[in-house]
Amino acid sequence: MPGTAPDRTPETNDSPPAARAGDKPGRAGKAAAKGAAAGKPSSAMARLHKLGLKRDVDLVLHLPMRYEDETTLLPIADAIGRAGMGLTVQVEGVVTSNEVSLRPRRQMVVKIADDTGELTLRFINFYGSQAQLMAEGACLRVRGELRGGFFGAEMVHPTVRAVTPGEALPERLTPVYPSTAGIPQSYLRKAIGGALSRTPLPETLPVPVLQGPLAQLKLQALPECLRLLHTPPQDVDEHALIERSHPAWQRIKLDELLAQQLSLKRSQAARRDKSAPPMPRRAGGLLTAFLAALPFKLTGAQQRVVEEIARDMGAPHPMHRLLQGDVGSGKTIVAALAACQAIDAGYQAALMAPTEILAEQHYRKLSAWLEPLGVPVVWLAGSLKTRAKREAAAKVESGEAKLAIGTHALIQDSVKFARLGLSVVDEQHRFGVAQRLALRGKADPDATAAQGKAGKAAQTVPHQLMMSATPIPRTLAMTYYADLDVSVIDELPPGRTPVVTRLVNDARRDEVIARVHHAAADGRQVYWVCPLIEESEALQLQTAVETYETLVAALPELKVGLVHGRLPPAEKAAVMEDFTANRLQVLVATTVIEVGVDVPNASLMVIEHAERFGLAQLHQLRGRVGRGSAESVCLLMYQAPLSPTGRERLATMRETTDGFEIARRDLQIRGPGEFLGARQSGEAMLRFADLNTDAWLVDYAQEAAELMLARFPEAVEAHLLRWLGGREHYLKA
Ligand code: ADP
Ligand code: MG
Repeated sequence: MPGTAPDRTPETNDSPPAARAGDKPGRAGKAAAKGAAAGKPSSAMARLHKLGLKRDVDLVLHLPMRYEDETTLLPIADAIGRAGMGLTVQVEGVVTSNEVSLRPRRQMVVKIADDTGELTLRFINFYGSQAQLMAEGACLRVRGELRGGFFGAEMVHPTVRAVTPGEALPERLTPVYPSTAGIPQSYLRKAIGGALSRTPLPETLPVPVLQGPLAQLKLQALPECLRLLHTPPQDVDEHALIERSHPAWQRIKLDELLAQQLSLKRSQAARRDKSAPPMPRRAGGLLTAFLAALPFKLTGAQQRVVEEIARDMGAPHPMHRLLQGDVGSGKTIVAALAACQAIDAGYQAALMAPTEILAEQHYRKLSAWLEPLGVPVVWLAGSLKTRAKREAAAKVESGEAKLAIGTHALIQDSVKFARLGLSVVDEQHRFGVAQRLALRGKADPDATAAQGKAGKAAQTVPHQLMMSATPIPRTLAMTYYADLDVSVIDELPPGRTPVVTRLVNDARRDEVIARVHHAAADGRQVYWVCPLIEESEALQLQTAVETYETLVAALPELKVGLVHGRLPPAEKAAVMEDFTANRLQVLVATTVIEVGVDVPNASLMVIEHAERFGLAQLHQLRGRVGRGSAESVCLLMYQAPLSPTGRERLATMRETTDGFEIARRDLQIRGPGEFLGARQSGEAMLRFADLNTDAWLVDYAQEAAELMLARFPEAVEAHLLRWLGGREHYLKA
């Protein structure tokens, strides 16, 4: 807790939260409800609930984020001797003076002294109660960092506690818990201490698991581990505790990863219990005709994933497959083939993309491929006029449309499919969990609605194919995506030349413009990506317009276009069409072109202020070039000086074009939370295990999970109840 004010103890701290045994949904913090109307939680309890602390076992598993060492006191003179070293120290002394001064601004200056010296405490914001606590003559125990101030060493806003002289020091490190404003640490400590003393925590891991797959870990019993982490003994290896490498932490992390594995595997099994329309591949149908009409041959990797998908779709259980392939690896065609298989079997297919530009491009491409073969394709996007939208929706509902392509508009309630058999989500990481679930629910609205009442009754859902160019490092795939089957396209279509990436200081803009000129003179096309301005869309737009005007002026003999997010969809589409048809040589764009856009003749990309973009975004952007046979170049313009992470990101981009390597470094720089985005991981985010350091534990968790699911269903229940409580559904999207 930041040392701003002494812990204020709530009035209700005299009795610990009500006793409730075991892992049952309990009433942790009931004591806090004393005085509140029956059935209405007190604010302290409500806040505990907000932290997710509803049951005793939740409290017990709420572990310290760090510790404070209050077990020793330094004489004031010694403490002053170490001022300015960035150390947190604890001293004790009697208040010799307490003054409130008004200049330069209102503050309270308190002096305390012991036998060895005197120390100044300074408080800029303070309550009346604090002034009282620190009245002259009071004995204070003070913790904080000593700085060399203008008038000698002082502590600014230390943590202060009034004590009786000679009061015993705690023998254990003091835990500091994750909290929200309004729940004092002292309250959390009491509530957790109470829960710890009355929660039995029987072992959830069966002996054959502990002695089998987990034997090497030599796990300690959970209750001991929890006790150690909440109230560490004085001789504990403090470093291991803070670094979370202590054996007690290992047990916690393993348990947590195990719960995640169990949950994911169970939802995978549950899906196998559901039914989906089997649509085995049929010779001589649309699929065959389409393959015959393709102007190129599928790569080996494409053929392999097409087989994997075809097999899944032939089964009477819903496919739940992630198709991964670096930008430009040719995922669209794979999706189209899957759609053909569904249509051949008499079903409809839907393809959803995160942006209109991308969805529209898919629509153009797929309708050009499929309509000549007699397949009606409809386009559904938010920007359509109401009437057009209604017409499209009607075709989907009547079954006349065999393939529907669009944005989120596809999953609106007004859109009902007659016979949806396959849903494809492109660039799936850009969608939220809820949106993906909604598309899955489109199959048969009645079945979905009846799901609640009918209980386990077989539910029909469409096959689902998710596509992503953001490669997921193995550890993440094993944890967050453990319930997905994954297909990987690990080969680019032939004839591509790798993109050469160069870093260019912003000061050399004229040279960059000259290069653009050359490229265009050679008949090639150029993307010019405008800087990302996160704080303001308006400013970003303004910059884009200015860049556009500058380039129009600098390159009078070239046709320059501008595309940005605020452009009406029809105009956006027109500009893209002009660029695709080579009527524009230079396309100035904001990040709206980030995903999916495919213009093979474009071979030069300029990204301004590249240091402002994330790695994944830069990789996606760069993937827009290098799609044809001409050698492609990506110029990353930056403004000096670069921050250390900015420098690291740009160096990564220069060094590699391998999406997996980039993702791995991105994960290292950002950590899994940001990597996945909060909305994807939901509340299922791992709290204790850290995939950078604990990935090796995932293998153990996986093996243990398999054995438990096969042989110890009751232990599975108990473990999941303890670790996830009612939160399991977050994992299932
Ligand atoms: P992404 O995986 O990034 O979505 P696309 O599906 O947009 O990639 O494909 C990129 C380009 O490669 C497209 O122009 C597509 O037509 C072309 N392509 C796909 N597969 C092949 C192949 N086997 N041989 C040649 N070109 C291909
Ligand atoms: Mg794509």
